[in-house]
Amino acid sequence: MAESPTHTDPQPIDAILSDVYRQSLAADVGSVADYIPELSKADPANMGIAIATVGGQLHTIGDAETLFTIQSISKALTFCLALERLGRDAVSQRVGVEPSGDPFNAIELHPATRRPYNPMVNAGAITVAGILRDAFGADAFEIVHQRFSMAAGRTLSFNEAVFKSEEETGHRNRGIAHLLIGAGALELPADTALDLYFRQCSIEVTAIDLARIGATLANMGENPVTGKQVFDVTAVRDTLAVMFTCGMYDYSGNWAYDVGVPAKSGVGGGIMGVVSRQLGIGSYAPGLDPNGNSVRGVATFRALSDELGLHAFDPTNAGSGFIRTFFDRNTGDVRL
Ligand code: GLN
Repeated sequence: MAESPTHTDPQPIDAILSDVYRQSLAADVGSVADYIPELSKADPANMGIAIATVGGQLHTIGDAETLFTIQSISKALTFCLALERLGRDAVSQRVGVEPSGDPFNAIELHPATRRPYNPMVNAGAITVAGILRDAFGADAFEIVHQRFSMAAGRTLSFNEAVFKSEEETGHRNRGIAHLLIGAGALELPADTALDLYFRQCSIEVTAIDLARIGATLANMGENPVTGKQVFDVTAVRDTLAVMFTCGMYDYSGNWAYDVGVPAKSGVGGGIMGVVSRQLGIGSYAPGLDPNGNSVRGVATFRALSDELGLHAFDPTNAGSGFIRTFFDRNTGDVRL
């Protein structure tokens, strides 16, 4: 009698994932952010990757369930909410969409417009927090938290210690908020806008959550697992465009060139990538490079983009390598 199989060949995506994971672990560990004291407690050896498809499938490796704070990745999502609430034109009057070529925490405005360069740097994100606080009043954080949770498909936790730590030490962000007020870009008291900004940064996620949120954006704003429409379709398009050009701080040009996937990183060590209409990718490795991007996260995305043909302008794959490799044209399923 034939033995029942005890081992099945790994699915192609899992084999690729474990290869990429091994390669990324070989990259430098980087340095954990310590300018927010509480962040320095992260374990630099942690590393996890998750891929979530628009079909609802999930593939993970490593520490994909370790919690960390979302930090600047929140900037992409709050920008999306602001666009949705106020519309593109009103938001454009408050914040630009031009890469700054300067560090994320630069104390500067665009010299001609006197507005922040873009919503992915701190000045822009604090302005967006002001817009949301104006629009939603004291409920703003609850609404932000609820939408982030809907995008992830579960109720996300909040890290009070990181919030307090940043609130106590965030003098540079206070400086930026006052610059914004002086320029007329922010109409609220600095602490009111910053309270929302520090809170949104302190929402906790895992690499799986980032992949799921990314898949929601990839799926035109509808969470592929819950089927709920989380974000407005047009706002998603505009958000992805700004992630593509400004999402990786002062490395955004290189990132677009080498990886070619709209993405956003945070100093907590996360990176969220979106391959439109295909998948979301989340990575976590808290060691950062001098730009503030996760060293092993960048290595992960570079390798995944190569292996899966994810670059938006890849000449052989035309941005649909993943679908081409795994999409079954007869059944419409993505075979993973
Ligand atoms: N809360 C952090 C700050 O404002 C977010 C920065 C980041 O992730 N780049 O400094």
